[in-house]
Amino acid sequence: MFIDVHCHLTDDKLKGDLPRTVSEFKAAGVGRVINVGCCAESSAYAFKQAQEFPEIYFAAGLHPQELKDKDISEIYEIEKLCKAEKCVAVGEIGLDYYWDKTYCDKQKEFFLAQTELAYSLKLPLNIHVREAMGDAVKLIRDNKGKFCYGGVMHCFSGSRETARELLNLGLYISFGGSVTFKNSKTVKEVAAFVPKDRLLTETDGPYLAPEPLRGTVNSPKNVPIIAAKLAEIRGTSVEDIEIASEENAKRLFYGLK
Ligand SMILES: [Zn+2]
Repeated sequence: MFIDVHCHLTDDKLKGDLPRTVSEFKAAGVGRVINVGCCAESSAYAFKQAQEFPEIYFAAGLHPQELKDKDISEIYEIEKLCKAEKCVAVGEIGLDYYWDKTYCDKQKEFFLAQTELAYSLKLPLNIHVREAMGDAVKLIRDNKGKFCYGGVMHCFSGSRETARELLNLGLYISFGGSVTFKNSKTVKEVAAFVPKDRLLTETDGPYLAPEPLRGTVNSPKNVPIIAAKLAEIRGTSVEDIEIASEENAKRLFYGLK
């Protein structure tokens, strides 16, 4: 089966007709999705959606873009959700300096605190990094003991050298729609380079729809398009990508059944 390790079914664009979204992705061969929260409210909603469909699992976390007015005590809400049976990761967490560089230290504080939460609960991480790769790699390297249950760099946009360092630190690399974009030379280089046992697939729906659907509402049903592109780049079959990415997802997110 195909697996979407990172999507947002809680988003207004997808949550309205969830039964249809689920039947569409099942028909496309996508057997499991990890529905990722970005704040306490969306994480609680992701939990609720996971109770409704056996194919949906979830992750709870505070996204770096959501932190500006947040108090660290909100992590207690996340902790409660992380103890639910279908929570397979802490996330989406990380660093994002793209929109706002005025609270980078606060982002690092929350990233580290949520990493410690994951460590205490023996959960892997679903990590988002945008325009902050240097700081993210440093934080991971300096605290690598706390990353021992692993994690995925979602929608990875760094260089091959950065990928190599993160792989050495035990992390997995996930590819989404950007690997299909015409101008994504670096992402394609990394997609060719990542070892078969560390490769994952995602959509980040409703964002980042792959070619030739760019600009439409993305959803987990598009994972096979991404797998086909990965197969083309790596000179292998789609089935090979499907089998490897399922094994990898179930190894990393061991709660995924
Ligand atoms: Zn996301």
